[in-house]
Amino acid sequence: MDFSYTPQEEEFRAELRAWLKENLPPGWLEGNHKLPEDPKEEEAFLRAWQHKLADGHWAGVSWPKEYGGRGASLIEQVIYEEEMARVDAPPQVNAIGIGMIGPTIIALGTEEQKKRYVPKILNAEEVWCQGYSEPNAGSDLAALTTRATLEGDHWVVNGQKIWTSYAHLADRCFLLLRTKENPQNKHDGLTCLLVDMHQPGVEPRPIHQMNDHRDFNETFFNNAIVPKDEVLGEVNNGWYAAVVLLSFERVSVANVAFRLQQAYDGLLAYCKRHERNGRPLIQDPLVRNRLAGYHARVHAAKLNFYRNLTRQIKTGRPGPEGSMDKLYCSELLKELNGYAVSLQGAQGELWQDAEEEGKWQEEYLSSFAMTIAGGTSEIQKNIIAERMLGLPKDIKY
Ligand SMILES: Cc1cc2nc3c(=O)[nH]c(=O)nc-3n(C[C@H](O)[C@H](O)[C@H](O)COP(=O)(O)OP(=O)(O)OC[C@H]3O[C@@H](n4cnc5c(N)ncnc54)[C@H](O)[C@@H]3O)c2cc1C
Repeated sequence: MDFSYTPQEEEFRAELRAWLKENLPPGWLEGNHKLPEDPKEEEAFLRAWQHKLADGHWAGVSWPKEYGGRGASLIEQVIYEEEMARVDAPPQVNAIGIGMIGPTIIALGTEEQKKRYVPKILNAEEVWCQGYSEPNAGSDLAALTTRATLEGDHWVVNGQKIWTSYAHLADRCFLLLRTKENPQNKHDGLTCLLVDMHQPGVEPRPIHQMNDHRDFNETFFNNAIVPKDEVLGEVNNGWYAAVVLLSFERVSVANVAFRLQQAYDGLLAYCKRHERNGRPLIQDPLVRNRLAGYHARVHAAKLNFYRNLTRQIKTGRPGPEGSMDKLYCSELLKELNGYAVSLQGAQGELWQDAEEEGKWQEEYLSSFAMTIAGGTSEIQKNIIAERMLGLPKDIKY
């Protein structure tokens, strides 16, 4: 495998670095990564940041140039993730719109839909959420029951979604639901609607998470109205659109691989900064042993990621190997952050009063999310077992 970058890729990296140096919020490169505490101010800050990224054509780098992106290659997208992780850049408030919904509208939308929605996704003028999961439909997404019926020139939507990230601040939702009375099977008779979140029939209720964030919601639809033509793809063939959207989710695995490196670097620095029993943690042989193990595993995870990326570039298809990356990186990230908390001994049980203002507690509790979102670790294991190892198929009910 060739690890060197082409001059064009190096130029891409240099241009991004220069732009970040010029445009990151004041004090960011010096280590002040605090977002405003007030939720409304935080939202305004993040929308403004994404607007700035869009102005510099750094919001949707993989998007075609004609839609305001850069048409970046897979390697350039990975360089982008690496550089953003290196400076721990503020997140994109419309990450779901940029990563999944925009590309799906570009792929399947009518010209009218593309013109209407795509530019506002890019600059976060309209934030989107993804309404897939329900209380009884997560891993088995096609078991969903939220329903829409056509009444004259509009759809009427009733039901409940859950875990809808950013629904509480979203302007629009990409909603997957049932539209057929007697489907042939559970994948039949689904439709994707593009829903206005600012209407009386839509009520997002934020969920208080164990990491103290309130990023996702239960979302209730009670006679919500959607104009008849706000369908993405074909009526009753929504499973196809749903799968197209999920295929764009895979690229974000790169994000976990680089977050892992970032977490390891942070852990190493932490062990140099803090003492136990009168000497720096880094001098304790047991700690050194664990750090050496993490160093090797993080390196192996990145090499594996690059190997799978090379395969993807050669074949033009993502393949099941991405499941291995997601499983390994997300589980390792959780373990590594948990180890940082355990190094604090009894203090580890504290929250903001713990060392480093509870940074490691927050990171640890947050790192469970990546082992669930985008397909749980067990589902990744099923994919690896069936599609890579050729083991018998999981029982489908
Ligand atoms: C941070 C985060 C953000 C999210 N954002 C969104 C969002 O914006 N929009 C949205 O629609 N959803 C979102 N989700 C929901 C996510 O897609 C689901 O949580 C995920 O698909 C799992 O579904 P579930 O929670 O219903 O768990 P279930 O599917 O009920 O699974 C429960 C347990 O059973 C296991 N299990 C299930 N099926 C199998 C099987 N066949 N074999 C072995 N084990 C199995 C699972 O691994 C899990 O441990 C988000 C989740 C997280 C954590």
